[in-house]
Amino acid sequence: MPVPILCHVCRSGRYQPESPGTYRCRSCGSPATESTFPVESDERLVVPREYSRSSPVPHGHQVITPDRRCYAPHPGASLILALRVNRTPPVFRQAEDVGTAEDLLSVLDADERGPWVLSPAQLGVLTQAMDVRNALLPSASRQYPDFDAEIRAARTRSRHPRAT
Ligand SMILES: [Zn+2]
Repeated sequence: MPVPILCHVCRSGRYQPESPGTYRCRSCGSPATESTFPVESDERLVVPREYSRSSPVPHGHQVITPDRRCYAPHPGASLILALRVNRTPPVFRQAEDVGTAEDLLSVLDADERGPWVLSPAQLGVLTQAMDVRNALLPSASRQYPDFDAEIRAARTRSRHPRAT
C-alpha cells in the first residue's frame, strides 16, 4: 500500500508531479526532486497518475464528483477494508482487481476532492468494495447514501454506455 509523502517544508501538503522527475507541494508549493525521497530497499517511489480536469473522458469512463462534505476518505475506506479482507473468500475474483483497487486508492489519495475520472474496471472494484463494507460495517458505510447512489449509477452507465 503506497504511503503518501508529506512535504518536507510545510509538513502537511502532499507532492504532485510537475514534470518528469520533479514534484511540487500542493499546499505550500515547495519543489522537490526524486533525490528528496530516499527509499529503503523494500520500498519504491510510486507516483499516482494524475488526471487533468480538462482532458476528455475516455469511452466508458465516468466522472464522479464528490459531495462537499464527502471527500475521498469515504470510498477509500471501502477499498481499504475490501483489500484487508480479500482472503477467504476473496472479495476480488480476479488478481488484477487487487492492483486496480490499489491504483484507485492512489488516485483518491492524490486528489481528495475530485472530480475523478474512473474507468469501468475501477468502478467495478469500488462497488464490490462498497458491498463488502455494507455487509461488515453497515452504519459507517451508509453515511453518504446519495454519494453511494451516484457511484452505483456511474457503475451501471459504465457497463451500458449506450443506454445513457
Ligand atoms: Zn508544503
